[in-house]
Amino acid sequence: MPKIVSRSAVSSSTEAKPTKSSAAALRVYYCICGEFILVIDKSIASLPRRRTDDSIIVRAQDSDAGKARVFKLNAVMSEPILLERPGGQHERLFRFSCPRCTLPIGYQSTPPPVKSGPFVYIFAGALSQVQGQVPTDAFDGEVEDEQMQGQQTN
Ligand SMILES: [Zn+2]
Repeated sequence: MPKIVSRSAVSSSTEAKPTKSSAAALRVYYCICGEFILVIDKSIASLPRRRTDDSIIVRAQDSDAGKARVFKLNAVMSEPILLERPGGQHERLFRFSCPRCTLPIGYQSTPPPVKSGPFVYIFAGALSQVQGQVPTDAFDGEVEDEQMQGQQTN
């Protein structure tokens, strides 16, 4: 005799909207050397990537396109370098480095301080959520993984 399963327990309320407190769940990221680098209000794995160099785009200022992410970067800013992109475009990069091991972890296109420009970019594979562990995407580029959660279409 088949067991009768009651569906009364199943309830997926559409009224359950995310609260302000759930949006404030912060993620912490570390350099490969174990140094604390970044605390941010959203997983960087779900943020959009830059086509030019596949770096992670962190919105640093509010604009019509969206609100700035809430984040704090623990990094040392170094002298800008001039980079030539494919197509002859030149871009000035103000790079962030790990304060302990000086490994480059990202950049912005405007002079200090951090967040003086619209975006901060984090190098793909530079940061890990687990202290002392090499990030899973450190060898990105060899394997294409398009599994993105919460992909932004606007
Ligand atoms: Zn480091």
